[in-house]
Amino acid sequence: MESHDEEPKVQQPAADPKVSKPKTGKTVAKHAILMTGATHARELISTTFNIYELLQLLQKGEVQPSDKWKKLLGMNKYIFVPIFNVDGVAYIEEQWVKTHKIAADRKNMDTKVAACSLGQVDMGVDINRNFGVDFGQVDDILQYQDDEWLEKKADKKRGSDPCSTNYPGPAAFSEPETMAYKNFLTSRKDELAFVINMHSNGNAFIYPFNGRQKNDIEERRPGIL
Ligand SMILES: [Zn+2]
Repeated sequence: MESHDEEPKVQQPAADPKVSKPKTGKTVAKHAILMTGATHARELISTTFNIYELLQLLQKGEVQPSDKWKKLLGMNKYIFVPIFNVDGVAYIEEQWVKTHKIAADRKNMDTKVAACSLGQVDMGVDINRNFGVDFGQVDDILQYQDDEWLEKKADKKRGSDPCSTNYPGPAAFSEPETMAYKNFLTSRKDELAFVINMHSNGNAFIYPFNGRQKNDIEERRPGIL
């Protein structure tokens, strides 16, 4: 395992602080890097990871600066959204106060869908699947056969079932979280260079658009990986 103190390799900043974005050709002051956590409410460590990275940038870039982290802080703009699924995480917090157990709540608190057998845990929309790319096409093929925890009743339901933990919602961007996020990304599209959505299951780095059984991103956008 890598040491937490190991510092990332960074390139020297360009002499001209303005950098151009290849896609749009527009010039922006700094590239922005966006990180989000807790898209799935129960993946609590993804929030911690956001805050850890934020503190690390401040500590090593500003408080007790090292050259590399100072450069990183100077070169880029960083945007953190530690809790994307705000009401889902709030529900987990409430349950923790009441029961001292972490609820397995994954979706948001949307109450438009019918009441489900397990109560709030299987109600709501999986906002990770509420985006426009490949909306509604993916989760009927999902099987969690090797994961005992995910083999709970709620997780074994098919994605099209509103009570499934993978339920993508009635339409793409039907949820306030994803619509707000879309508007935010659109407003920042000229400066955003990299976006990472932290989750805590899978031990994997997943490129978009992994919703397809065959990930054809390299064919659609040669060289993007
Ligand atoms: Zn997740």
